[in-house]
Amino acid sequence: MSLIDNENIYTTPITTLGEFGLIDRLTKNFTPSNSKTVKAIGDDCAVIDRGDVFELLSTDMLVEGVHFDLAYVPLKHLGYKSIAVNVSDICAMNGKPTHVIISLAVSNRFSVEALEEFYLGVELACKKYNVDLAGGDTTSSTSGMVINVSVIGEVDKDKITYRNGANVNDLLVVTGDLGAAYFGLQVLQREKDIFKDNPKVQPDLSGHDYALSRQLKPEAPVKYLKILEELSIVPTSMIDISDGLSSEALHIAKSSKVSVCLHEEKIPIDYTIMNAGTEFKLNPISCALSGGEDYELLFTIDQKDYEKLKKDPDFTIVGYVSDPSEENSFIASDGSSHKLIAQGWDSTQD
Ligand code: ADP
Ligand code: MG
Repeated sequence: MSLIDNENIYTTPITTLGEFGLIDRLTKNFTPSNSKTVKAIGDDCAVIDRGDVFELLSTDMLVEGVHFDLAYVPLKHLGYKSIAVNVSDICAMNGKPTHVIISLAVSNRFSVEALEEFYLGVELACKKYNVDLAGGDTTSSTSGMVINVSVIGEVDKDKITYRNGANVNDLLVVTGDLGAAYFGLQVLQREKDIFKDNPKVQPDLSGHDYALSRQLKPEAPVKYLKILEELSIVPTSMIDISDGLSSEALHIAKSSKVSVCLHEEKIPIDYTIMNAGTEFKLNPISCALSGGEDYELLFTIDQKDYEKLKKDPDFTIVGYVSDPSEENSFIASDGSSHKLIAQGWDSTQD
């Protein structure tokens, strides 16, 4: 019995809106009133005018059972990852992180040593990304572990990159390679299932080092920003790839009021993932488009910057920006054109 019937008065299931529809609905009445707010909701970070520079703010939550499974994720790796994924959002604005704040909710299942292990990972990441741990909050949870990290950073005003700056005829570029993190998750999940059925079987993770490191120890894409700076390129728009290439490309398209076209044959995938695809009955391209957690960057550049970037193997041109009257599209390797959707592409369409 409840004193207030909160659950039965309000009945619309969240699934009818999806994550982004829900955020839009909950935040629709909020307009920034502080004159220093340059950007509030809708990009990888909020942007605040601090005079000489823009300050960047972002937050991310990791929930046990949803974002991580302690059956196969070492706590030290989890600590590292919780910082890296936040730094990634600062990178998406072309900025540098300066501070993080960590809030933790943990059940009494966790020991002091376990949490110290988590903080060893946090410490490693703070050193690696040159950020100061500036505080947090600690509380109990009725079940499991919830981690919330907020990050602060800054960027020169003339270097900031939003999701909404892509122009028609710009080139779409991704850093590194895609799909491996999702692949790593499948490897871990498979071994967990085998272990559940027969605890005597040793896990077989051989040959999957790259995928596992991408899943368990993701790095924020800091190094690519340095290269872009050296090449004197400021992308016209940028986003980090946390949810899969297609979803992120569609975010750029929507924010910039343009359309995007992705070419299957251009999508960079590590050869180990290409080879292992059949073993797991997984299409590596689908992993890249919809898998998520790669923490690479997707950005757009003006065509005049193409010459500067084309020889650098860190970057791959995966498509281009087109007029908003056109459909967001995916050109398959056989040349057929499909509608690009957040889950990949619409294979029922030519
Ligand atoms: P990312 O994938 O880069 O972490 P999200 O997809 O989580 O970004 O969020 C998209 C935008 O919506 C961001 O600007 C974020 O700050 C905002 N946002 C997400 N959840 C909420 C919320 N519960 N209330 C207000 N704003 C939110
Ligand atoms: Mg992001």
